[in-house]
Amino acid sequence: MGLETYQKKRKFNATPEPKGEIAKRRESRFVVQKHAATHLHYDFRLESGGVLKSWAVPKGPPLDPKDKRLAVMVEDHPIEYQKFEGVIPEGNYGAGTVEIWDKGHYFTLNVNKERQEKTVEEGLKQGHLDLILEGEKLKGEYTLVKTKLSEKSWLLIKKEDPYLAVEMPKQVKPMLATLVGEPFDKDSWLFEMKIDGYRAIAEVNGAEVNLYSRNFNSFNNQYPQIVDSLRNLGKVAVLDGEIAVVDNEGKPSFQLLQNYPREQTGNLIYFIFDLLYLNKRDLQALPLTERKNILRQNLPPSPFLKFTDHIEKNGTAFFNAAKEKGLEGIMAKDGKSPYRQGKRTKEWLKIKTTRVQEAVIGGFTQPKGKRGYFGALILGVYEGNNLVYVGHTGSGFEEKSLEETFEKLKRKISPVSPFKNPPKPNAPVTWLRPEMACEVKYQEWTKDGHLRMPIFLRMREDKPPKEIGREKILSTKEILKGKK
Ligand code: MN
Repeated sequence: MGLETYQKKRKFNATPEPKGEIAKRRESRFVVQKHAATHLHYDFRLESGGVLKSWAVPKGPPLDPKDKRLAVMVEDHPIEYQKFEGVIPEGNYGAGTVEIWDKGHYFTLNVNKERQEKTVEEGLKQGHLDLILEGEKLKGEYTLVKTKLSEKSWLLIKKEDPYLAVEMPKQVKPMLATLVGEPFDKDSWLFEMKIDGYRAIAEVNGAEVNLYSRNFNSFNNQYPQIVDSLRNLGKVAVLDGEIAVVDNEGKPSFQLLQNYPREQTGNLIYFIFDLLYLNKRDLQALPLTERKNILRQNLPPSPFLKFTDHIEKNGTAFFNAAKEKGLEGIMAKDGKSPYRQGKRTKEWLKIKTTRVQEAVIGGFTQPKGKRGYFGALILGVYEGNNLVYVGHTGSGFEEKSLEETFEKLKRKISPVSPFKNPPKPNAPVTWLRPEMACEVKYQEWTKDGHLRMPIFLRMREDKPPKEIGREKILSTKEILKGKK
């Protein structure tokens, strides 16, 4: 419909209403404005197609199930109108007082992989639209149906309160990204900072919060500040994000994170980048951009919870900025992609500023000279069910981390080598059960499949050792070309 009718009806030098234009940014909000014009009525408006689809509801939207209210479709209003409150002066179209009576978000039922917006368009065309409203006053499932009375006349119906919904997903395995070599620019892709921390899913059911790792270990006791903040959301939601501790320069520090439960140094933050479920609605099939819109609008300001923002399209410049700041890398995500639990997909890519590999610790060597505790860690990765040796590293430790690491290693001592191809280092070896993992940076893979110059970065107690394999760096070009 566009805004011509709206603009023609009004003189913008005589009314405080916004002139507006068709918006590029797409969100899924609704508003109800109480309009004391010649006849009091309520204007129900939904964002769609860059405008507000609008209906005048003389008796107001129904609050009781099975109540049906006449809703007369009126001209599309500009997006800006949802913020409008005030007095339209005498002599103008719709003269009288406008107040916001309710506002919030809506979802359509039955969205598959199509955009929600398309579902709305289709519904309007066919004269039947099922909605879930998430407002202050209006909550739950509503239907708009066109009547046979006239082209413009619809009914707004509140449905029986649904157990409609889909149960909240539990024990969620997060969606994973594929490692690629080069950054890129691409329309409809989003780029986020890669955050150096613990991947964590949060199941929030009002006061009941479960924050856990990829292998379902609870973080509740380690990070109670995050758990409390999630509790205060007062929502039923499933969130995906990364727990990190940020230093004075705003950079995530893995070391501060590991020490946080004891030392409480730095700023603890749950960086939230995805929303799988909100108040009875499963959002996993929605495109990522829409999930992130809804997420952004449902996260109140909190020192411990932060929305992970992104930029669109320009991944290369973003990557260079991340590299300059000494950050770990960036994530590239297809804005149209649904959430795929537990899958490593090509719709999410990670691009690192340095080469990093996870490794299983299969043993350690005796220290030489003045050094205490151990000399080097003996590293392996899984190939199928076999742990294969890929190198050893003695650098990257300080006195304190040597001691801390050694304390952990001692508990895993084993009489036999866990490796399929045990190495023969030139210092005595103590073998370990392959139950601990670490992360190293390195120069390259040698021809015989070893890490060149690995340097210890940190322990990875959040990673199941069995899942650690040689991480292949795929070509960005191939991935983007071969997608789907
Ligand atoms: Mn009105």
